[in-house]
Amino acid sequence: MARKKLIAGNWKMNGLLADGVELAKNVVLQVKAMGKPQCEFLVCPPFTLLTSVKKALRGAKVALGAQDCHMAEKGAHTGDISPLMLKDLGCTYVILGHSERRADHGETDELVRAKAEAAHKVGLKTVICIGETLAQRDAGKAVEVCRNQILGSVPADSNATDTVIAYEPVWAIGTGKVPTTADVEEVHAAVRKVLAQKLGKSVANKMRILYGGSVKPGNAKELLSLPDVDGALIGGASLKAEDFVAIAKNGTC
Ligand code: PEP
Repeated sequence: MARKKLIAGNWKMNGLLADGVELAKNVVLQVKAMGKPQCEFLVCPPFTLLTSVKKALRGAKVALGAQDCHMAEKGAHTGDISPLMLKDLGCTYVILGHSERRADHGETDELVRAKAEAAHKVGLKTVICIGETLAQRDAGKAVEVCRNQILGSVPADSNATDTVIAYEPVWAIGTGKVPTTADVEEVHAAVRKVLAQKLGKSVANKMRILYGGSVKPGNAKELLSLPDVDGALIGGASLKAEDFVAIAKNGTC
C-alpha cells in the first residue's frame, strides 16, 4: 500500500511577521528546487502568521495548517479560534492533541476527538498527536498509552484522507533523543493495528502515521525508511528551511 509521505513543520510559538514570511519563502524556494517531490509538504505557523504565510506560499506545493482549534463553530470562547476561521484563512490542516497542548492546557483525548470532529466537519484535515512520556516508556507502557490515545482521540468516522496520526514520544520532543528504529516501528505497527480495529483494515492501511521527536536531516533516512513511518512532524528543524527540506530529501522524497 503506497502512502504518500507527509513532511510537516510545527513552528510552535516562534516567529514574528518578518521571520515567518522569510522562512515560508525559503521553504518555497527549497521545495521548488526539488522539482517533483514524491512527498507532500505542510507548514503550521502560529495563528498570527497564517495570513502572511499563506501569501508567501502562493503557487507552491506546500500546504498551510494551524496548531490547534476550538471545537465550536463560533461564539463566546474568548481567545479561541474555530475550525471555520482556519479554513477561511486558507488552512487545509490542523494539528490537534500535541503533547504540549495536552500538558500545558490539560487537553484530554475526549477534547481532542471533539476538536477533530469539528475540524473534519468543515473540511479540515487533522494531524492527531499521540505519544508516551518517559515514565510510561520506562514502565513498558508505550504501546498501551498510544493505543488508548488512538481509541480516545480519533473520531469513529475518520478516514485516510481527513486524518493523519503523529506518533511523538514526549521525551523525544526537542531533546535530541530519538527512540531506536525498532521501537519506532513497534509503536507505528501497533498503532496501525489499533486503527484497523477502530476504523477497518482498508482505512488503516491507507492512513499516514508520522513520526515526530527530534527529527533532523541526519536521522531522517533511517526513520523515514521504516515500513510504517509515513512522514515526519518536525519542530525545531522546521524553523530552518534547508533542514526542513533536507529531511524530506534524505527521507527519500
Ligand atoms: C514537535 O513538537 O512536534 C516536535 C517533533 O519537535 P522537535 O522536532 O523539535 O522534537
